[in-house]
Amino acid sequence: MSRDDSHDTKARAVDSWEQEFLNQDGSGYIGTPSKRYRCPKCHGVLQLKQGKNGAFWGCENYPKCDYSANDEDGRPVRPKKYFCPLCGGQLRKKTHSGNTFWGCSNYPDCKLTLEDVSGEPSSSRKYPCRACGHYLVRKKGVKGYFWGCIKYPECKHTLPDDKGHPVPKKLRSSGDQ
Ligand SMILES: [Zn+2]
Ligand SMILES: [Zn+2]
Ligand SMILES: [Zn+2]
Repeated sequence: MSRDDSHDTKARAVDSWEQEFLNQDGSGYIGTPSKRYRCPKCHGVLQLKQGKNGAFWGCENYPKCDYSANDEDGRPVRPKKYFCPLCGGQLRKKTHSGNTFWGCSNYPDCKLTLEDVSGEPSSSRKYPCRACGHYLVRKKGVKGYFWGCIKYPECKHTLPDDKGHPVPKKLRSSGDQ
């Protein structure tokens, strides 16, 4: 019989939910969610619901409270917001003839579209347009992918696509970026 009390204290420092999870593991029953997520708007309890696009978290006080969150591995995750680099409007995910892409909420005033990469707009990959100083976006044309200027049709600069990257027409040795 050892009396290692200091070790015991450290073990208790583990978050209670984590401990519950560990206790549950191997005991043979899964199904009762031990963790409750509170609604940040009204402090009601969030419930996992099934929607058209899969599972999501909604507030128990719906429709009084319209809070909702995406489901990620059984946890509520707030949908990220993305903004249009041209006009600052919010980007919305759209699906058109099987293609998923992001479009500006100010359409048709702003015709910005961005390719969807794993559920996020591909704005992080920016390739400058040598012609006007804005940037290029990957587009799908009849002959396959190509890169076109975000200011199209004002700027008609395009570059061919090679495995997801634009191919510069003239390779310059004056610098990488
Ligand atoms: Zn709520
Ligand atoms: Zn816009
Ligand atoms: Zn341009």
